[in-house]
Amino acid sequence: MNGEVEMRCIACNKSLSDFEATRKDSKTGEFIDMCNDCYIEVEEEFASIEREDLKHADDEPEPSPNQFSGS
Ligand SMILES: [Zn+2]
Repeated sequence: MNGEVEMRCIACNKSLSDFEATRKDSKTGEFIDMCNDCYIEVEEEFASIEREDLKHADDEPEPSPNQFSGS
């Protein structure tokens, strides 16, 4: 047996974390199979189901430094 199939981003071919690999389109129920970097580009076009329990700090988008210029 060849064991696990490694999930890769359909856009850039990067290997996906469990969180990325389990992100689904909430309309179709299909796996989106995109890394966070690529998904963020299309995020507004997909209503996705995300496995929050598989989310790690590494999966958070990097905040822009400008967002910290609070009062
Ligand atoms: Zn990608």
